[in-house]
Amino acid sequence: ERRGTTLPDLLAERGWSDAEIERAPGSWAVIGSVVLVTLEDCPREAELGDALLELHGEADTVLAHEGVSGERREPDSRVIAGDPTTETIHTEHGTRYALDLREVMFSPGNKAERARMADVIAGEVGPAVETGGSAGTDAETPERVFDMFAGIGYFTLPMARAGADVVAAEINPASYRYLIENAVLNDVQDRVEAYRADCRDVEVDAVDRVVMGYYEAHEYLDTAVSAVASGGVVHVHEATPEVELWDRPVGRIEDAADRAGRGVEIEGRRKIKSHSEGVWHVVVDARIV
Ligand code: SAM
Repeated sequence: ERRGTTLPDLLAERGWSDAEIERAPGSWAVIGSVVLVTLEDCPREAELGDALLELHGEADTVLAHEGVSGERREPDSRVIAGDPTTETIHTEHGTRYALDLREVMFSPGNKAERARMADVIAGEVGPAVETGGSAGTDAETPERVFDMFAGIGYFTLPMARAGADVVAAEINPASYRYLIENAVLNDVQDRVEAYRADCRDVEVDAVDRVVMGYYEAHEYLDTAVSAVASGGVVHVHEATPEVELWDRPVGRIEDAADRAGRGVEIEGRRKIKSHSEGVWHVVVDARIV
């Protein structure tokens, strides 16, 4: 690992011109032993990969990420340097995620939200259900969570580690396999009830929280509203154009509550990261009464 050295320095050492260096990526993520980088118009990929490995001595592989596609969010990527093995274990705030980045996605930009979901369970971000609700912050009664789009356990694992009982649904078989493996890896297998299924087909009721970590979450709001207890909270993710903040995500939740004859109190709303030009990945926390 070359501390104090930058990627442009290393590329210059390899004979790259200033114009070529301009086209190199300005950011990347280290996930376990894999450097994950998005290349737009970068020349000399293999050399770029070697330079990134030199910069990050702890990494073994550089994977160029081209995007994710389809409902199952399957990544499109290729190894450009190092060990062709892309299976790794990534540790974040003490949670261990085993994953193969060629098979399943991982969003570095959602790190703070993964931590926040653990904090809401630990009671550091305010109670889920106020007195009179179905459960509460009573340490004796674990919160019950429905994670509708669980993936490899992005939110399920930190929430279970913080003390919640989580029903997790995931339709992608590769993600589901890691979800099960990761529950064991984090010693929360007794707190996680996982289903390889469409979340609409999993029978859940009167949970304290529903996590909807999927850009198309709004299409599943009726399921979420019917699963949540009176006074419980639904955490709804969306990719929202700047001009539609916050009317569109809030309106969609209000409409779903209306259809079920229930009320809504918006508890929080946050931008998580930039999704694309002019579009934000947001989350709205809505208490359903
Ligand atoms: N916010 C990012 C996005 O939308 O691209 C991350 C999404 S990832 C956590 C969403 C996960 O939901 C994927 O693993 C996908 O396979 C899963 N998924 C999609 N539709 C589903 C459904 N109807 N039931 C259960 N899981 C589903």
